[in-house]
Parts: sequence; structure tokens; C-alpha cells
Amino acid sequence: MRRRTGRSLPDPCPTAPNRSGDGAPAPVHASLGSRSLVSGRSRRCIGGVLPSKTGVMENGARTSYHVCPLCEATCGLAIHTRGREVVGIRGDEADVFSDGFICPKGYALKELDADPDRLRVPLVRRGGTLEPATWDEAFAEIDRRLGPILRAHGRDAVAVYLGNPSAHSMALGLYAQVLLRALGTRNVYSASTVDQMPKQVSAGLMFGTLLSIPVPDLDRTDYLLILGANPFVSNGSLMTAPDVPGRLRAIRRRGGKVVVIDPRRTRTAAEASEHHFIRPGTDAYLLFGIVHTLFAEGLVRLGPLAPHTAGVEQVEALARPFAPEAVAARCGIAADVIRRLARELAGAGRAAVYARIGTCTQEFGTLASWLVDVVNVLAGHLDQAGGAMFTKAASGSANTRGTPGRGKGVRFGRRTSRVRQAPEVYGELPAACLAEEIETPGDGQVRALITIAGNPALSTPNGARLERALTALDFMVSLDIYRNETTRHADVILPGLSPLEQSHYDLALRQLAIRNVATYSAPVFDPPADQLPEWETLLRLAALVAGQGSAADTAALDDFVTRQRVEHEVASPASPIHGRDAAEIMAALAPRRGPERLLDLMLRAGPYGDAFGANPGGLSLAALEAKPHGIDFGPLAPRIPEVLRTPSGKIELAPEPLVADVARLRAALERPGSSMVLIGRRDLRSNNSWMHNLGVLVKGNPRCTMHVHRADAERLGLADGGRARVVSRAGAIEVPVEVTEAIMPGVVSIPHGWGHDQPDARLRIATAHAGVNSNRLADERALDPLSGNAVLNGIPVTVERAS
Ligand code: SF4
Repeated sequence: MRRRTGRSLPDPCPTAPNRSGDGAPAPVHASLGSRSLVSGRSRRCIGGVLPSKTGVMENGARTSYHVCPLCEATCGLAIHTRGREVVGIRGDEADVFSDGFICPKGYALKELDADPDRLRVPLVRRGGTLEPATWDEAFAEIDRRLGPILRAHGRDAVAVYLGNPSAHSMALGLYAQVLLRALGTRNVYSASTVDQMPKQVSAGLMFGTLLSIPVPDLDRTDYLLILGANPFVSNGSLMTAPDVPGRLRAIRRRGGKVVVIDPRRTRTAAEASEHHFIRPGTDAYLLFGIVHTLFAEGLVRLGPLAPHTAGVEQVEALARPFAPEAVAARCGIAADVIRRLARELAGAGRAAVYARIGTCTQEFGTLASWLVDVVNVLAGHLDQAGGAMFTKAASGSANTRGTPGRGKGVRFGRRTSRVRQAPEVYGELPAACLAEEIETPGDGQVRALITIAGNPALSTPNGARLERALTALDFMVSLDIYRNETTRHADVILPGLSPLEQSHYDLALRQLAIRNVATYSAPVFDPPADQLPEWETLLRLAALVAGQGSAADTAALDDFVTRQRVEHEVASPASPIHGRDAAEIMAALAPRRGPERLLDLMLRAGPYGDAFGANPGGLSLAALEAKPHGIDFGPLAPRIPEVLRTPSGKIELAPEPLVADVARLRAALERPGSSMVLIGRRDLRSNNSWMHNLGVLVKGNPRCTMHVHRADAERLGLADGGRARVVSRAGAIEVPVEVTEAIMPGVVSIPHGWGHDQPDARLRIATAHAGVNSNRLADERALDPLSGNAVLNGIPVTVERAS
């Protein structure tokens, strides 16, 4: 390929070594933390037409099988279509993983696909107004505006923000990396530092890669301790498991126990064996109290992990100041309860601790995330059937590549943000820093922004400040399906496709599945002839920032990046295709192109792959295409020590950065708590900010309300159905009040992702159900220092009746 001057184009594979060369995979530049709610197993069909179970044509209709890309559960769907119309959706009862489960959001794919507000042509700002344009006009405008910024101010002048849906998309997941590497900016931001980075940091430090996150073996456990998670409504996060409600109920049905720790009596808590309120942000104290008890009462059982674990004595010493009596008042959980939980965990044959968003989005998020797995190790439940286990993903991952049992580990802080010197984590800077990097003059100031499937104006802290900052940019381009509260500020919007117009394979989520499964979904509909696939859009952007102009040959670019990946694979000593001829592998991948070609490579070189003939009968994309309901490789199996990629080859129970941060936790033990704090809330039919334009999901009573305990309501003069004014350091909002007993006194809860009342957005249904942006209350200055994650739970607020 003839190339113009500029940066070389990068390897597009998200599991290839990242640009830091530290051996860790490229970052998952977007949160996996969808915030949904599921009422239970349902096999209803919308549209009044039950689809065929055969997948063949019937009366002019057709059934396609497609994995739902809307949340982490990865449910298989049977989608019934007639022509270009969806006429029915049901759970795919033959899906090897989801067994027919579907939630209301899955049904809503029909409305999402048909949404008239979904963008279908590029928009270019002319004379202050976003107007329809051709693709060539849009790319020419980007080249005209972005090129001079890059030349005059350098690559760091252009920031990229990746939203949550980019982690749920094969095309975006693979090709956003191409853009990032071509651009080479330090200013990479994503939803990961809004809700999940602490878990990725603790997993990286303990086990060696950022997605070596143990998941609870739900189907075999007898005891599950859940902190800060509401999987009855989210269907799991950093834990891929369709029908979590059914799986949790099954634990109790087989005589097991589910214990929930949460400042709210959530739906999950209501269905659990036991629930305890906890003061927001104090999970690390509770977990240290459990660790203390395990040591104090001689309950530590490393079992087969003993020769593979380092740092046990250090953890014992660290836990000494956190006796149950010392932490009880801070947590709001009695010391005898903490002791009992420790004993129950240690005594259960098969048990696991699982924690999620409430434990990540707090000032001690990484410590809490770490201590979850410390308890799993010490109580003898890590890597055991029914405990917390590691997935072996069919597409491969950083913990299946390289030398089994040893690696380079992870490193952070290789650079810092310009304004507040926040350290980089997995190639990202904290999303909470983006506004100040735009606003603050000087070398390296962010002057242009590329957003990919994101709405940071609603989903990041102090959204009001970020909105103001966006108006100060010299240029902004967005790849998105909507003109939303963020993309309305763009100078160019490049439309994405309907999820049903795209193929799908869950590259990230299936690395966290509670069974080893693989499913490929072909597009239900062909994309419109005049619309660009998202991977080609990203390739054209990559070519443009690499100096190749606005009309690059995307086929040649795709060949180039695929060949890079193949050459990396055949050069890797531990690869099953090590030493093979790259040209031979490229030929074997033909005639596929784009994401399918890369996926085929990853599957065939993956742990179950056919190794391009070296392992006859092994996995390939063709084999997956022949199994539209997926392939089940069975329950999770013990993987220690081969899963480890730490430099020591051991589980690092006491990594230095975490050990150092314990002093901060200890210092805050006696700190008086705020009299009132704010936490978030998930909702049955909501998924962050982007599914509020679907009538089927927003109908009924308004859900953007503030939950407050009855005693607090009486004290503050708040009435159910009235309005409250909530004030934090960052801002103030007014919100309807719901009085309830299902929240801890001293805590109020407001869901995030709302606030669709901004001018120039084109979300007609969402605007009619606008709600209020709770992230206007989140303080962008408050971060978990190890991960750069925003503090969204435990925000000090004052609450009063709105006049
Ligand atoms: S639970 Fe998630 S994956 Fe399953 S249907 Fe609902 S939104 Fe889709």
C-alpha cells in the first residue's frame, strides 16, 4: 500500500501488546458497566408474531439468531423479521448460554432499530447548524479542521472519549484501537474511569492482566456474598451471565445462601437470604474486617493456591488495625455480623465474594476491589469450582497469550495528566480530568475531541462543567447513533449503524463469562448501501489522523492492519501458529475482511482454535457460523497457575501500590461521616444514558426520582411526590422525591444518565421524559487515586425541600 507521510497504522487487535509495550493488553477503553434492570425470566414475544424456532423462512418471515449487545449478559435472541422490519423478538431457547432468557431491553431492540431519531446520514455544522452531508463531505470537513490542529498543536491536542457501547461492539472494540494508535494522543478517556477501572487495576496487580477478573461460579456455588451490586437488575457486570436472577434463585433453591451488602434494599437484596445496609464508601473496611477475622480465628485456607500465592503475611499485618470492632461503626455493620460472615465464607464448601459498581465508584475503589479477591483467596475459594474462577475466552485474551504462568504484569503512571498530574492507567487518563484539560490554556491543551459511542456530558462527573468545556473546543467529531447531549456540540457527527445491521461477537464480555462459551451473530439486516460500517468509519478516521487524507483506501488499510496482527501472532513463541508463514495465514483468512477476518484469526489462534489446520476440528469462525446458538466449552475449570501473568508467576496478594494505599484507608477510619450522602441507582429499563429515547423503556411512572428514607424525609420536611433540592460542591439539582424504607438513613439515591432537557439534542421521546442529570452533583475533583475512577457513590450533599 502506498502511504502518505504520517504515523504508522497500528495493530487493531485489542489483545495485542499495547503501545506502552508492557505486555499488558491494550486497554478496554470503555466501561462494561451497563446499568439495566431485569424483572425475571421472560419468553414473551413482542409484535404479536411468534417466530419460527427453525430459523428458516415462514410466510415471508425470517428468524435470525443474534446475541443482544445491550448489556453484559449476552442473551441469545431470536429476531423475527419481515423484509426490513422487526416483527417479533424472543429469547433464543436454544442459545447455549442464555436458554431463552430475555429482558425488556432486549425487546426494545425493535424500537431502537426503527427509531426515527437514530442518525442515518452524517451531519456537518454549517453556519452554526448541524446539516445533513455526504460521507465524503463529512470526512473532508474533518480533514480540513482536524489537520491544522494536529500540525499546529501536536497529537495531544486531540482527545478521544469512548463510551460504554464501544465495549459491547466487535467493530468498535477492534477498530477504535486502530484510531488510537494512529492518533497517538495521551488524552484518551473512557467510561472505564467512571465505573470499573478499580477492578481492572486490582486484577492487573494481583493476576497480571487487566481482564483477569475472577467471576463467581454462580451455577455451582453454595454461598455468595454480594457487595455494591444489583445483578437482579443489571444482569451482572464484570460477570457475564444471562438470567442472573434465575441463577441466584437457584442457589437458594439448592440450599445455599446469598448475602447482600448494600446501602439500599435492592431487588437483589430483597430476594437474598440476608441483607445488611452499609455506609457508602466503606466496603474496604468491611472486607478488611473479614480478612482480620480469617487470620485471627485461624480460618485462612489457601489449599492448592499455597505454592502460587505471595504476600500472605503482609496482608495479615495490614489487616491488624481493622478488627471488626474497629470498623463496625464506620461501616454501619455490627462486629458480630462481620465475624459471622467471615466464618460462613470460610466454612462454606463452595463460596464466592462478588462486588461491583458500588465498590468501584468510591474513594477506596481499588482497595475494595482488591480485598474482594483477597478474601476469595484466603477463604480457599479462588479458582475452585463454585468459587471465584477465571474464564478461558475462545477469542483469546491476555491471560491465554504469552507464556503460561508468567508475564510482565502491569504498570501504571507512565505519564500523568497535564493539569492535575493524575496518573495514566492502562493508557487512559481519568474521565473526570477531561473538562480541565480542555479549559486550561498552555502546551498540550485539548483543542479537539473525538467521541465514540459516548455521552460524557451526562455520564461523567460535573457534567455541567464538561458541557461548558465542550463549547470551547476548536473542533469536535462524534461517531454515534444519536444527536445527544454530548454530540450536539460536535462539528461533525458520523452515524453508527443499528445493532441489527452489524455482526456481533462479545470480545470483551466473553472474557468474563461464568461458562466458556462462544457465539457469533451475523447481521440481521444488511446495512443501508449509503452507510459506512463503523469499522470503516474508524479506519478512515485513523488514516486521516495518520496524514493519509480523507479518501483513504479502507480495503488496503484493513489488509495492512490485519497483516500486522498476523505477523505479530506468527512471531509470538507461545502462539499456536508461531513460525507459520504470514502470507499463508492471510490467504487462509481470505476472503473475509474487517472485524470478521480479525475475529477468525483470534478464534483460530485461540485456546480452542484449529490453529489453521494444526488442530483439526478446532474452532474457527466458520465453525461458529454453523452453530447460530453458540458453542459451549463447558463450565469454568481451575486455571492457576497458567492464568497468571505476573512477573513473579504468583498471585500477588499484597502488591506494592495497594499496600501503600492502605495508609489512606487507615487514616480515614476515624473520619466523621457526612450527615447525608448520595449514591446512584439502577433501573429496570434504563441503560446509562442512551436508551431513554425508546418509548417502551421510559413509559410509566418517572424513574428519575430521589429515594430517601422515611425518617430523613420527616426530618427534612420532604413529602413523597414532592420535590427536593440537592446540593453538592459541584452543583445543585431539583428532583422528585420518593419516600421509602428501602434505603439506609442518611443516604439518598438518584439514578444517573438522565437530564435530556438540553437544546439541540434530537431525542424526542427522551426529551419528554427528561429527568435530571445526577452527575451534576458528582465532584470531578474526587477520584480513587490508584485507578483514577470517579467517586460517584458517597457524595456529600445537603437536601432540602424545593420551594
Ligand atoms: S439482559 Fe442484557 S443482554 Fe439480555 S436481553 Fe436484556 S439487555 Fe439484552
